[in-house]
Amino acid sequence: MAGRGNLIILSGPSGAGKSAIAAGVLGAMTGLRFSVSHTTRPPRGRERSGVEYHFVSRDEFDDLIRRGEFLEWAEVYGNLYGTSKRAVEEMLDTGSDVLLDIDVQGARIVRTRCPESTSVFIMPPSYRVLRERLEQRQLDPDRVIEQRLRNAWDEVRLYPDYDYLIINGDLAGAVEELKAVIMSLRCRISCREEMARAIVGTFGGADAQDP
Ligand code: 5GP
Repeated sequence: MAGRGNLIILSGPSGAGKSAIAAGVLGAMTGLRFSVSHTTRPPRGRERSGVEYHFVSRDEFDDLIRRGEFLEWAEVYGNLYGTSKRAVEEMLDTGSDVLLDIDVQGARIVRTRCPESTSVFIMPPSYRVLRERLEQRQLDPDRVIEQRLRNAWDEVRLYPDYDYLIINGDLAGAVEELKAVIMSLRCRISCREEMARAIVGTFGGADAQDP
């Protein structure tokens, strides 16, 4: 049976490129699954329920909170977002590594509840670049962009709480760095214990054989 997977938290200010980095890594690595969050935000563009998010009503979200279904949840820019505890557990139990793309409030909760998780902070290379990216993606009115930039002012200072820092200057480089973090987790002794024991077993005695 496969061992338990690694839980990887990806967080950082809005516009730093978390979703693009997550998509790049998910497309390039096997054994890695994305935790599809629930949200009360309406779908944007071509987003489909069950793929980018599970889009739910405020009542449905409140019901999920009441039933204790969330590992964490938070309000982000007026909408609610939450991570399904059961979905994450099931994926980890089957041996998959699981990637969470969540805001800094959610990241703090998951770090506390799951101390074995690995947290990765995504930082833009500068304030100017973050502003340009938020303006270029044309998702938000000016008022919301200004609010995201104000929040980013506080959020970028949270990087020391994380295990790893990726500065997203160019997307391809950032994707490679996150892949390297995940590969290094997979190489830890604790993840390879079972395999190592089996190999050591082949050295067991005079009549030991390769499996
Ligand atoms: P967006 O609406 O632009 O897709 O996401 C807005 C913010 O919510 C992003 O920072 C994203 O990482 C965060 N987010 C997405 N899913 C979750 C979640 O399940 N929990 C928390 N705390 N934040 C989330």
